[in-house]
Amino acid sequence: MKTIGIIGGMSYESSLHYYERINNQVNEIEGGLTSAKLLIYNVNFEEIRNLMLENKWTEIGDTLASIAKMLEKAGVDYIVIATNTMHKLADYIQNQINIPLIHIADCVAEKCKKNNVLKTGLLGTKYTMIENFLVSRLVQNGLTVTTPRNQTDIEVIDRIIFDELCKGEIKASSKEYYKKVIKKMISEDGIEGIILGCTEIEMLIKPKDLDIPIFDTTQSHIDAIVDYSLERKLYKQN
Ligand code: GLU
Repeated sequence: MKTIGIIGGMSYESSLHYYERINNQVNEIEGGLTSAKLLIYNVNFEEIRNLMLENKWTEIGDTLASIAKMLEKAGVDYIVIATNTMHKLADYIQNQINIPLIHIADCVAEKCKKNNVLKTGLLGTKYTMIENFLVSRLVQNGLTVTTPRNQTDIEVIDRIIFDELCKGEIKASSKEYYKKVIKKMISEDGIEGIILGCTEIEMLIKPKDLDIPIFDTTQSHIDAIVDYSLERKLYKQN
């Protein structure tokens, strides 16, 4: 079994899902007392969030890269960043380590393609929706990707992630807001599937809430991690 190094804590609500489900799934496949070999470095998200708000991405990149190097030195075989937004720094981090970083966008794109859904919409933090780092990686994987057109929608979706979901708060009004935005993307952009491009959104939006398929980055990432960890799949560097 390979050992996974997870850079987590962004937020710890979603890192809990990584820890629990990776172990559950590995045990379901292998049986007995099998559990996953993994190390999690849980950051203090308050510190990282403050750097984000101050636009100090070099500092964040250096912090996360030093954690990745620490995990590599500790003997992990793969690095995982358990958040979409921090994939803004994925190349920066990958360039400083000698082990593969399992990119979250590759994992979710694979699920979309397996289900023949190529025309997708993407929700996430405002960084993920406005900037190109995740979209370009999804496009590289063969998808077309649209994000909400309306600036207020982007702001509200982002606020709900940081003020509610990252604190474990699930509100019916927020669920309705997300559903309304997705419905708009279906009618205006003709999306055929929605990518939950933030590791907390799956806590709010469930498959039964929508008429189109949901592609959740958290679960897609976890499924891939399990496969690489059990060597059911060989890692192909992009
Ligand atoms: N977990 C979120 C994501 O997947 C947001 C937290 C962060 O900014 O890293 O993007």
